Amino acid sequence: MANFIEQIIDGDLAKGLDRKSLRFRFPPEPNGHLHIGHAKAICLNFGLGEKYQAPVNLRFDDTNPEKEEQAFVDAIKEDIKWLGFSWAEEKYASDYFQTLYNWAVEMIKNGAAYIDEQEQSIIIEQRKNPGEPGIESPYRNRPTDESLALFQKMKNGEVEEGAMVLRAKIDMNSPNMNMRDPVMYRVLKKPHHRTGDTWKIYPIYDWTHGQSDYLEKISHSLCTVEFENHRPLYEWYLNQVKPQEELGPKQREFARLNLSYTVTSKRKLQKLVEEGHVSGWDDPRMPTISGIRRRGYTPQSIREFCQRAGISKRDNLIDVSLLEFTLRDELNKTAQRVMCVVDPIKLIIENYPEDQTEFIQTENNPEDPASGTREIPFSREIYIEREDFMEEASGKFFRLTLGQEVRLKGAYIIKATRVEKNEKGEIITVFCSFDPLSKSGSGSLESKRKVKGTLHWVSVKQAVSCKVRIYDRLFTHPSPDADKEVDFLTHLNEDSFKETEGFAEPFLAQAKMGDSFQFQRLGYFCVDKDSQKDKLVFNKTVGLKDSWKKD
Ligand code: ATP
Ligand code: MG
Repeated sequence: MANFIEQIIDGDLAKGLDRKSLRFRFPPEPNGHLHIGHAKAICLNFGLGEKYQAPVNLRFDDTNPEKEEQAFVDAIKEDIKWLGFSWAEEKYASDYFQTLYNWAVEMIKNGAAYIDEQEQSIIIEQRKNPGEPGIESPYRNRPTDESLALFQKMKNGEVEEGAMVLRAKIDMNSPNMNMRDPVMYRVLKKPHHRTGDTWKIYPIYDWTHGQSDYLEKISHSLCTVEFENHRPLYEWYLNQVKPQEELGPKQREFARLNLSYTVTSKRKLQKLVEEGHVSGWDDPRMPTISGIRRRGYTPQSIREFCQRAGISKRDNLIDVSLLEFTLRDELNKTAQRVMCVVDPIKLIIENYPEDQTEFIQTENNPEDPASGTREIPFSREIYIEREDFMEEASGKFFRLTLGQEVRLKGAYIIKATRVEKNEKGEIITVFCSFDPLSKSGSGSLESKRKVKGTLHWVSVKQAVSCKVRIYDRLFTHPSPDADKEVDFLTHLNEDSFKETEGFAEPFLAQAKMGDSFQFQRLGYFCVDKDSQKDKLVFNKTVGLKDSWKKD
């Protein structure tokens, strides 16, 4: 079924809008890295482009040189490409600075804009509140020539920052605060990452956005709902620059993506990075595109997630487990099954010949017969997970205990006989015996014997040592930034990161950065960029099941 944005477009086409004039854009501000919320806007705009065979521009909304950088531009482009989309044209709001300036001069001449020399705090104060009339600036009706001359001075850098601004002359009594003579330009003596120090004044978002849409002939300009009450201003500005009979771009609003246990605001994400709560923008716990990519998410899973989350008119909170579910669903079909022990304890099979190694034939992925098979070495000394052994345990523990039998996956049935401890009383080695007739798949009666537990394992002699990074949610609260009175950082999960030294089967020595695997019984893991030739680093992407306890 068509979402409500598609219904609007279909309606416009039905009313006679030429299909060829459909054009969309994705307009990021290059002041940070893209996050999962932006992925929704990207999938929406580029998805419309695919559906209607229409061009989609990438436009950098670069009107604030204080916070913007070329590095962010580059990272944003990389992220969009990685998601699998390509843009028609790469544009910058700064490409339009001269045109915008010329238009602003025309507006002053038409009596639609004026220079205000009051302090910012006074301007804000005079706006008042929606229920009461605002106060007009004493400069509001100054002669056009004065405003023109001052605007020229602002542009030439002859005016100090904060000394004056250009304001649109609209309506100081409007119930819509955005219409109470909004600021169009401020003085800012900062070099811009593209225009250098050509400009000493910079246009405000509202004045820039719609005109950029107009210049690029965007038919439908889609933004998030907090801009709904900017729509009258968007249209007012367009009417200052375009002929009345011309159809301008149409602004429509859709709900932001809010994800539980997550913040999606560049400013807050920046704070996490700057204060060192995470290792960087691409920390695998971050909801940035670069973070979730490093965590092991695939472009398809993110696109699929955005599809499932849908496009709605009103804000809602999407459960982060939907994102995890979507990925798990995909990796289950594609990820190779391997064995890795993340918190090892050594096991010695005393009745297994000392210098023997045998190879266990195993399927790479039972969900995908085309993925083939491989061999895993098995020998006298192996690693198992520390938590898979207890000296004594209750009847509910179906793993290894003294005197109890379990199966080593794909191999033999073993029975633990005794343990060796260090001086602190910690178990360092578990001794056991194996049943040579019980080998999986051998067809013997013993191979069919039922035992309660099956453990994964890695042969010590051939093991590849690795670091395993286990992540949990970054926040303990489902809406960490919902309460404006409480600092979102108070909801940080102190235990969201843990690193262990593990051992993997030798096949993994060939793994390359970004490769994803299912570590049997543990979850999905991918190779991190910190990996070195002799020390692989794995990130836990997601568990096998949704293990997060419901509150
Ligand atoms: P932030 O608050 O994180 O800085 P922003 O809206 O200021 O976000 P922009 O770079 O201006 O970031 O956003 C580019 C586009 O992405 C805009 O059209 C914006 O509406 C959209 N967008 C940003 N955040 C979300 C979100 N959480 N859900 C859906 N769309 C979003
Ligand atoms: Mg923004």
